[in-house]
Order: sequence, then structure tokens, then C-alpha cells
Amino acid sequence: MNIRVLGAHGSDLLLNGPTSQHICRSVGFLVNEELMVDAGTLASGLTLDEQKRIKYILLSHLHLDHVKGIPPLVDNMSGLMDHQIVVASLPSVLVGLQKHVFNDLVFPNFFNLPGSPYSILRGEELEPKRELRLSKRVRITPIPVNHTVETAGFIIQDDEVAWIYSGDTYVTENLWQEAARIPNLKGVFIEVSFPDSMRDMAYRSKHLTPTLLAQEYRKIGKPDLPLYVYHMKPTVRDQIIDEISHLDIPHVTILEEGQELTL
Ligand SMILES: [Zn+2]
Ligand SMILES: [Zn+2]
Repeated sequence: MNIRVLGAHGSDLLLNGPTSQHICRSVGFLVNEELMVDAGTLASGLTLDEQKRIKYILLSHLHLDHVKGIPPLVDNMSGLMDHQIVVASLPSVLVGLQKHVFNDLVFPNFFNLPGSPYSILRGEELEPKRELRLSKRVRITPIPVNHTVETAGFIIQDDEVAWIYSGDTYVTENLWQEAARIPNLKGVFIEVSFPDSMRDMAYRSKHLTPTLLAQEYRKIGKPDLPLYVYHMKPTVRDQIIDEISHLDIPHVTILEEGQELTL
């Protein structure tokens, strides 16, 4: 499975480093060129031809840093699309998306555009813990996690490999229990948002710190499982990376915009 990192952070910021600048963008991963896993960054990271190939958008929850890439995509695709884009998520997320974003006030309702022969977006409701074949090759299973709003992590798999995406989460159990049972699990993407010094903020906003990340990762019981870290808040990115380097986890990758992985 091919994964392109369009956004690996919990917000957007142009960071000034000692020798270069780093563009931090909100979370969005493009899988096999046709499936977005979260959509905080989407159109700004893809050419028009690449955007036309997107058929599925999988959303972990409704927070803006996970959905704000969708309006520019449908704006670009207006009049160019020959297929609908399936937006798959928990029912509350699909309702919220149309109530608060695609509500004909903030943005036109591209799920149901008046006068249009068909809508660009089509909602697909997911049921917790029930596997769904989203595309020809890819199956997904939503697992509820522990965040401030209803949120799902996902098991994403084809016939050869599986990987886990945590969504935004604080300390949780079910997702790691499922992870422990998957024989062909090739990687786990776990969010980290704040350094350990901001653990109170992490608790209040239901996010992980590096120490909590290590605790959650170890619940899976697979010490050689590759760990991919994302959703760092850009202003505390360097501090988080420093703390993760002291965690004693052998296969850890800090995800960055522009990276491409094959699992
Ligand atoms: Zn987030
Ligand atoms: Zn969130």
C-alpha cells in the first residue's frame, strides 16, 4: 500500500529553523492515489490531475484540522468530475459536516447541490467495529477512540498488508487490542500533539504526549512494529521530536510533509 504524506501536523505553520524553513500542514494522507485518510491538507498538496483521481475520503472526526481540505477540492472539481467522491465516516461526523461546513452559509452543500444533476460528495456511514470494503482493494474498520468529540481510529488493509491510524486520541484500549490480533500489521500511525511538559493541556484536549505515546504503543505488544508519529502541534514540534528520541522505541519515524511510504 502506498501512502503519501500531504500533512503531518495538528495545524498549519511555516516554521523557521536554523538553516531552513519547514512547512507544517494539517493531517492528510493519500493512499494508493485514490483514498484520503483525513483531509486537513488535500488540494494544496496535489495537482489537478491528482485531485481528479480521488474517489474516497475517510474522516476520523469533525475537527477542522481534519476536514478543511475538502471544500477547496470540491471547488476545484466543480464541472470537472465524472464520479462522486465518497466521504466515509461515523454518522455524527457526516451530519456535522453538512450542518457546520457544507450548510450553504459557510460553503455550498456539495452533498446535495440544488439544480445539479448529481452531487460531487456522497456520504457513506460507518458502523464502529464493522469492516467495510471501501474500494476494490482497500477495506477499513473504524474503532472508536478517546477524544473530545466522537472519533474513530481505523484499521486499513488490503489482501497483503494492514496498518492502523489512530485519529486524534488520548489514552485508549480497543484500537490496541485489535492491533494485537492482526497478523499482517505493517505499521501503526499514532498521534502526538504536545510535549510532556504540556500534559495537562494534552489531557484537557484529549491528545497524547511522547510518554503517553510509548505507553499506548506498548499495549500492542509488538516491539518491532514500525511506529509512525504525526499530528504534532507545529510550535512545539522540535521539543516533541527530542522527547521521542529518548523513548527507546526502535522503529519510529516522525512523519513529514512530502514523505512517501510503501507498507
Ligand atoms: Zn486534530
Ligand atoms: Zn481533534
